[in-house]
Amino acid sequence: MALSLPDLPYSKDALEPFISARTLEFHHGKHHKAYVDNGNKFIAGTEFESQAAEAIAAKIVGDASKAGMFNNVAQAWNHSFFWKCMKSKGGGAPTGAVAQKIESDLGGYQKFVEEFKNAGVTQFGSGWAWLVQKDGKLQIMKTANADTPAAHGITPLLVVDVWEHAYYLDYQNRRPDFLQAFIDNLINWDFVNSNLK
Ligand code: MN
Repeated sequence: MALSLPDLPYSKDALEPFISARTLEFHHGKHHKAYVDNGNKFIAGTEFESQAAEAIAAKIVGDASKAGMFNNVAQAWNHSFFWKCMKSKGGGAPTGAVAQKIESDLGGYQKFVEEFKNAGVTQFGSGWAWLVQKDGKLQIMKTANADTPAAHGITPLLVVDVWEHAYYLDYQNRRPDFLQAFIDNLINWDFVNSNLK
């Protein structure tokens, strides 16, 4: 088993006008593919070759001698997760169990919107904004570059990619507008619910 590039769970134009087909073409077909290809080069012939991306990332996180492997393997995992966090006609207030957890743990949907957007806006440089479950409770967090809660024993529920390659073709420097569009129109709450433990 090696890392693989999953197909997008929708057509390339399914998220328009919020994320263009051209962005998905580059983001999935070039950026994500490069992380998968490079990750496979790093793990080839090592003890990690037959392991899942999440397990590899958890084992080598923080090991400076394996930073290249970590960056590519974690990015491969993060992107596979990110695609599933979106759908056509998604976004808006959540339903199901996660709606109740957002109410009890985060103080309600408006608080979630504020904190999640703020995490994405204030992640300096490249990285990710997350809704996670830690010790049973929901939390908002952000990670830099390739880092992922999955490598730290924290359960990821939802992520948005705030690397410039995720939004620059459609929004240029307007990261807050991209985040707002993601929250209002793209979040796949069914997927988020399915990740609750
Ligand atoms: Mn990306």
